[in-house]
Amino acid sequence: MTRHRPPLPVSPAEASGAGGAAAYGRVKPSGVDTTHGAILYLEEVTVSFDGFKALNRLSLDIGVGELRCIIGPNGAGKTTMMDVITGKTRPTSGTVFFGQSIDLTGLDESQIAHAGIGRKFQRPTVFEHHTVFENLELAMKADKRVRATLRSRLGGEQIDRIGQTLELVRLTREAGREAGLLSHGQKQWLEIGMLLMQEPLLLLLDEPVAGMTDAETERTGELLDELRGRHSLVVVEHDMEFVTRIADGGRVTVLHEGSVLAEGSMAAVQADPKVIEVYLGR
Ligand code: ADP
Ligand code: MG
Repeated sequence: MTRHRPPLPVSPAEASGAGGAAAYGRVKPSGVDTTHGAILYLEEVTVSFDGFKALNRLSLDIGVGELRCIIGPNGAGKTTMMDVITGKTRPTSGTVFFGQSIDLTGLDESQIAHAGIGRKFQRPTVFEHHTVFENLELAMKADKRVRATLRSRLGGEQIDRIGQTLELVRLTREAGREAGLLSHGQKQWLEIGMLLMQEPLLLLLDEPVAGMTDAETERTGELLDELRGRHSLVVVEHDMEFVTRIADGGRVTVLHEGSVLAEGSMAAVQADPKVIEVYLGR
C-alpha cells in the first residue's frame, strides 16, 4: 500500500543531526519505508471498551529520529495508545502504520517487536539472578536477527556491542553484578539497554523516571539526549520538569479523553488555555 502524505517539518536528515552526538550512527530503517519523514502514523484510531472510548479518533505522526513527549492527565489514553502501537490492543477502527507501508494492525506483538518497535513498561523486568552483562547478552540473543543460540559463544563484535551499551546506560561498573542488586534507577537503565540490544527504530518509554532519585532522573535525561536522533522515541511522562528538560524545544503532544488536545513546544502547550483547564480541572 502506498501512502500519500505531506512531508513532516522534521526531515530525516535534520532529525538525525539534531542533538544526536551519539557515539554510533543512526539505526538504519531496513525494511521500513520512511521516505516521507515519519516513522509512525496513527490515523483516526479508536479503541472502545464496551462502548467507552479509551482512544477517540486519535491521529498522530512521529518523525524519524524525533523524541516526542506525550503528556496528559490520568485516563487520557496514553498507555492504551502504546498498547495499540505494540499490538497488545487492537483498534476498534483506524489505522496504524510503521513507515509508509507496514500496517501494524495486521501484525501480532512479536512481529511488531521484530519489525523494530521496542517498548519499555513502567516496571523494570530484568532477569534478577543474571548479571547485568548476561541480561544484555540474553536480550541480544533473543533478537531473531542475530543467529545464535543461548549456548553459543559471543563474538568480539557482540562483546563490543554489549560494552558500548553498558557505557551508554551507565552500567559498565556494574557489569558483573546480579541485576537484582541494582537500584531501581539502574534496573530501568538496564531494561533500556536490553531494548537497545535489539536496535529498535522506534522506542516507546512509559514513565521512564517514575520512582527515580533526582540524580538518576538527570542521568536519564542525558541518556535520552544520546538516543535522540539515533532512534525515534516516544516518551510518556508525568514529571513536567523532566518533560521540559528532554523535549528541548521539540514537539509535545497533550492527550485528553483519547484524542490530541494540543501539540507544540512545551512552552506553547503549557500556555494553552485548553491544557490549563484540563490540568487544573482535575
Ligand atoms: P493513561 O495511560 O493516559 O492514564 P489509559 O490508556 O491507561 O490512560 O486509560 C484510558 C482509559 O481507558 C481509562 O479511563 C481507563 O480506565 C480505560 N481503560 C484502559 N484499559 C481498559 C480496559 N482493558 N478495559 C476497560 N477500560 C480500560
Ligand atoms: Mg498510563
